[in-house]
Amino acid sequence: MEEVLSSSLYTQQVKKLYKVGELLGLDNETLETLSQPERIIQVKIQIRGSDGKLKTFMGWRSQHNSALGPYKGGIRYHPNVTQDEVEALSMIMTWKNSLLLLPYGGGKGGIRVDPKKLTKEELEQLSRKFIQAIYKYLGSELDIPAPDVNTDSQTMAWYLDEYIKITGNVDFAVFTGKPVELGGIGVRLYSTGLGVATIAKEAANKFIGGIEEARVIIQGFGNVGYYAAKFLSDMGAKIVGISDSKGGVINENGIDVGKAMEIKEKTGSVTNYPEGRKVTNEELLISDCNILVPAALENVINKFNAPKIKAKLIVEGANGPLTADADEIMRQRGIVVVPDILANAGGVVGSYVEWANNKMGQIISDEGAKKLIVDRMNNAFNTLYDYHQKKLEDHDLRTAAMALAVDRVVRAMKARGLL
Ligand code: NAD
Repeated sequence: MEEVLSSSLYTQQVKKLYKVGELLGLDNETLETLSQPERIIQVKIQIRGSDGKLKTFMGWRSQHNSALGPYKGGIRYHPNVTQDEVEALSMIMTWKNSLLLLPYGGGKGGIRVDPKKLTKEELEQLSRKFIQAIYKYLGSELDIPAPDVNTDSQTMAWYLDEYIKITGNVDFAVFTGKPVELGGIGVRLYSTGLGVATIAKEAANKFIGGIEEARVIIQGFGNVGYYAAKFLSDMGAKIVGISDSKGGVINENGIDVGKAMEIKEKTGSVTNYPEGRKVTNEELLISDCNILVPAALENVINKFNAPKIKAKLIVEGANGPLTADADEIMRQRGIVVVPDILANAGGVVGSYVEWANNKMGQIISDEGAKKLIVDRMNNAFNTLYDYHQKKLEDHDLRTAAMALAVDRVVRAMKARGLL
């Protein structure tokens, strides 16, 4: 079943590519070559558990396309990781990096493991062994991994240390999302949420008359959702609904984001926020607001609830929160959806700033890094908006975003003689 689901993620991505290819007038040979990763590395990772027993895991790194630069994308640890999933995610990274005009191709990696079942020592062993297995294919000008689901700055520190030990090459720019002491930037922690808020503001200006006093509902109060809420609130928006896996709370007078986080930290859930009405996640998504930011899981807006959504603007904080059916319903209803490959790209833009800073000898301040991220997100939004208006107005923003991204990769491949 998992195999089927993940292969369908890859199939879905290929379908989207072909649809966009048709709009761009690309031939089948071009689309076929664009859909295949350039290299997939599959490795067996064996560790000695703290109980003395051998534990074996499979890991992958998919390097989808390097026409625009070294491969870039995260590495995740999850029991459902498959080769197909990693391939699909690496293709998405190619489009995301292209859309944001980053000097990168697309890559993604993963280990099929439930990290909750490993001790910290076992996780360190697993991480170091993964690098031992794939280090030849990594490098700050070759392939630059970053954290993803269930990996963090500590994982990157183990990766970096192992890479330096094996290669003797003290190059901090091989990994991003590192601890600050190892060349990481403080801004990386909140760069995705900052990017979501920046894009929501630009989109609100264009489509719903501005961000000031706009009523916003955010599903998910984790890294992306919390920081998006915080920055949106700083911009003058009113956060009227938030949620986590236990449920949500609605307060028409506005939720104090800092207080909500304190309550989540103390009690384990935002549902204990004292002022307001408790709701389920299903109710939250269809509650009254101007902007909806799904920032938790994929496929939460689908053909069942799409007709009931009240927001006029949806900004995808999570990856894939709308199904293809929901996309079509939104298009028919005139609800604007800012797609994930733009809306949540602040994370990889933050990674880019960290990489560039490492390459330049750590000369960018936190404020400078923040400005670079905001400017890059704003420019990408405005480029997409203009392109959509001029070339693909009958289609949704997602299709236009992919078309822009694919077109740039194709032009680079042609210039290099690869097509
Ligand atoms: P996180 O684990 O920090 O937070 C996830 C939040 O979603 C938590 O508040 C959790 O309680 C909530 N949640 C879980 N199950 C839920 C459910 N059934 N209903 C409602 N809420 C639920 O994760 P994150 O890093 O904030 O990532 C969220 C999404 O954003 C994911 O799709 C991720 O792939 C995407 N994303 C994250 C980043 C990043 O830099 N963190 C970058 C790009 C995309």
